[in-house]
Amino acid sequence: MTMQTNLQHIAERITDASKQCDRDPKQIKLIAVSKTKPCTLIEDAILAGQRAFGENYVQEGVEKVQYFQQHHADTALEWHFIGPLQSNKTKIVAEHFDWVQTIDRLKIAHRLSEQRPSSLSPLNVLIQINISHEESKSGIHPDEMLTLARAILALPNLTLRGLMAIPKAEIEPEQQLIAFKQMFTLYQQLQQSAPDIDTLSMGMSDDMASAILAGSTMVRIGSAIFGAREYN
Ligand SMILES: *Cc1c(COP(=O)(O)O)cnc(C)c1O
Repeated sequence: MTMQTNLQHIAERITDASKQCDRDPKQIKLIAVSKTKPCTLIEDAILAGQRAFGENYVQEGVEKVQYFQQHHADTALEWHFIGPLQSNKTKIVAEHFDWVQTIDRLKIAHRLSEQRPSSLSPLNVLIQINISHEESKSGIHPDEMLTLARAILALPNLTLRGLMAIPKAEIEPEQQLIAFKQMFTLYQQLQQSAPDIDTLSMGMSDDMASAILAGSTMVRIGSAIFGAREYN
């Protein structure tokens, strides 16, 4: 299948899920997750009209951002950092990305704000919630959300835009929906206490329909666009 067909197929899945819950499909933004995939495939996606991309690994992501700044300077792209972020890597992330979706410590937020170049607009950030309470996973406990959000709102070079989650995969769609609905409730809570909250990032290749039914505004799709990932 061509890249254009894959992207069209995703757009149809977004439209179908939106129709099921009377939402406007335009409310759901697609992030193409290109981790481990070469720049040539990202170029195919750009040719097919995709503009927002997600990367998980700092070094790989920064190299891609720089490649596209050099070779496609006339195409405005949006780069989302969606992987775990250590404090010794915050500087190059603050310098190259437009969004960081995985904030789960104030220390990281502080550093990103301090290190964001003044020539760039504020860095958009999402707080990551560990909604399935998995010990091995990143993200904060829901009870910590408002405290962390208030602290982030005080930082000058960040714009808090909302929440992100990677719920545990469930076999039953009804079961999957529960975690997504819990996220939507938290999102509404956050909206009441902060001004620019407009993003609930949840839904991947295998669970995007449930995420959209529950109120997701941003889906992060990798394998359904670029094919299965190979790690070596
Ligand atoms: C890899 C990844 C995705 C995309 O996953 P697919 O199942 O390939 O769609 C989305 N979000 C995050 C945080 C990821 O690490």
